[in-house]
Amino acid sequence: MIPRNVKGCWNSGYCGVGCPTNAKQGALLTTIPGALDHKAQLFHGLRAERLVMNQDRIDHLLASAMGPDGVTPSGITVTLKARQFVVAASAIGSPGLLLRSQLPDPYHCVGKRSFIHPVNATVARMPAKIDPFYGAPQSIYSDEFNFKAGTDGPVGYKLEVPPLHPAMAAGVVPGHGQPQRDNLGQLPWMQSVIALLRDGFHPDSPAGTVSLRDDGSPVLDYPITDYLWQGLRKAYLTMAEIQFAAGAEAVQAVHLDSGWYTSWNQAKDAINQLPMKPHRARLFTAHQMGGCGMGADPKNSVVNGFGEHHQVANLSIHDASIFPTSIGANPQLSVYALAARNSNRLAQKLRKQG
Ligand code: SF4
Repeated sequence: MIPRNVKGCWNSGYCGVGCPTNAKQGALLTTIPGALDHKAQLFHGLRAERLVMNQDRIDHLLASAMGPDGVTPSGITVTLKARQFVVAASAIGSPGLLLRSQLPDPYHCVGKRSFIHPVNATVARMPAKIDPFYGAPQSIYSDEFNFKAGTDGPVGYKLEVPPLHPAMAAGVVPGHGQPQRDNLGQLPWMQSVIALLRDGFHPDSPAGTVSLRDDGSPVLDYPITDYLWQGLRKAYLTMAEIQFAAGAEAVQAVHLDSGWYTSWNQAKDAINQLPMKPHRARLFTAHQMGGCGMGADPKNSVVNGFGEHHQVANLSIHDASIFPTSIGANPQLSVYALAARNSNRLAQKLRKQG
C-alpha cells in the first residue's frame, strides 16, 4: 500500500486536480501556513528571472510580477534582497534559473543528468464496473520488477495503479476521435497499470539535459535509448499479463498501434511486434529529478550533500534537482526529507553566524 497524508478523506478521487475538502495535507495547508506563523512573508505572482551576483555571493533576485492572468509579465520588475537564497524551483526550473543567471559552472554540470522515470501504461476492460475515478487514488504499487536486475542488467520498473479521473484519463486512454470517445465511454469498467522506469543507472540510460530556449525558459531534452525501449516493451508485457491474471476481458497497450487484445497469448504476440519508437508509444512522466546534482566533488556536481552550491557562498538548492540519480520511487517524501534536513542545518549555520 502507498501511505497517504490525509485527514478526514472523503475518498472522492479528486486528489490529482486539487482536494475540494482540504483533506489532502499538501503544502498549502501545512508548510506554508506554518512558515507564515513564523513570520515568513509570501510573495506570489512573481517569476524568478535571475539571481544577480556580487563577487562570490548572490546579491539579489530579479523577478517579474505577473499580470492578472498569472502568466503574462506585467512589466513590473521586483528586486528581492536576502542574506541567503534557497532555490526550490523543480528539477527543470532550478537548473533553468541557474543557467539564466549565468552562475559559475566551471565543470558544466548544471542541467546535466536529468531523470524522469519514463512511464508507459496499459488499460484493461474488466467484467465488472470498478469506477476507477473514485476512491483513494494510486494506493497500490509493486517493486517486484524494480531492483531485481541490479544496475547492470535490463532497466527495472516500478508498477503502480493510477486513478482514471476523466480529465486525466482523456490524455492516456488510447485512440483519437470516435475510437477514443468509445474507449472513454467504457471508463467505469476500465483499469490501468503504469510502469515507471528507473532510469540513469546504466551506461545506455544516460539521462537528459536541461537547456534554455531563446526566451530564457528551460526545456528538457531526454533521449529514449534502445535500452529504455526494451524496458518499455517488457513493461507492457508485464502489465498485460497481470491484468489478464486479474480477470480482464481485454487489454490494450497505450500505444498508437495497439488494438484491444482478448487473451494473454494474443497480447504477448502483438506487443512483441509493436514498433517501439517516439510518437507511437505514448510516454509520460511525473517525476523530474536531477539537473543540479549533489556530490562531494565539484567536478561532477553542483551542490554538496547539504544542498550548498559549490561555488556560490550564500546559495542552497532544496528540491528534486539535487538528486544525483533517479530513485525508482515517487520522490515527494524524499524531497520533503532532504529539504527538512538541509533547511534545519542551514538555519543552525545562519544562527551561529549571527
Ligand atoms: S480522495 Fe483526495 S481529493 Fe478526495 S477528499 Fe480524499 S484527499 Fe481530498
